[in-house]
Amino acid sequence: MTALNVAATHVGTEALGPGVRSVVWVQGCPFRCAGCIAPDWIPDRPARRAEPAELAEELLADPRVTGLTLSGGEPMQQAAGLAELVGRARSTRDVSVICFTGHRLERLRTRPPTTGVPELLAAVDVLIDGVYVAALDDGRGLRGSSNQRIHHLTGRLANCGYDFAGRPRTAEIAVDGPQALLIGVPPTGLLDVFDTAVDAALAGTRPHTPRTSGTCSHTSRKEAPS
Ligand code: SF4
Repeated sequence: MTALNVAATHVGTEALGPGVRSVVWVQGCPFRCAGCIAPDWIPDRPARRAEPAELAEELLADPRVTGLTLSGGEPMQQAAGLAELVGRARSTRDVSVICFTGHRLERLRTRPPTTGVPELLAAVDVLIDGVYVAALDDGRGLRGSSNQRIHHLTGRLANCGYDFAGRPRTAEIAVDGPQALLIGVPPTGLLDVFDTAVDAALAGTRPHTPRTSGTCSHTSRKEAPS
């Protein structure tokens, strides 16, 4: 069993792929893209340690969930654990799997089995690859910038009517105690609205820190100071 280093999870979103999905964001990313909206999740530092079986049970707690979305951070840095997570989840429910990565698929296909990457690729239905490039952020699709490619590694989600590359962007805000999570690939300008709204809610507890918009994939999180 390969434990995962998890930055965050969310059960039941419609903002990161077709249907109702659960998301796991892993901690740690080697790319450091300018404009990444999840800079807290770039460092390779210990976050939440979770076993794949435990995580699978958590992500499937909502019976409406029909898919998993893997993001980060960089999922390929924890490929073996994520492959095991998908296997555990699918032993309970036949979920579809979407995975974001900063690596190009061609390079990933050269990785040896010891990395866990071939195993994870074999479990993924849709891979969205490439780093976030702010200058190529066209405000469309389930990806942060137009250099990122949508690879249907299986046919499972190819004809489901979900326009991965051209759909209008959507995002959800989940509030959990002192934490606010922005889930999805946010439409242009939404991140600043999110930051402002959360800072207003925290009224005077900390200064507003504006951030530039954009990410490979995923989410932004703000927490009230403890
Ligand atoms: S945008 Fe994605 S690939 Fe780039 S630094 Fe952030 S998490 Fe890593």
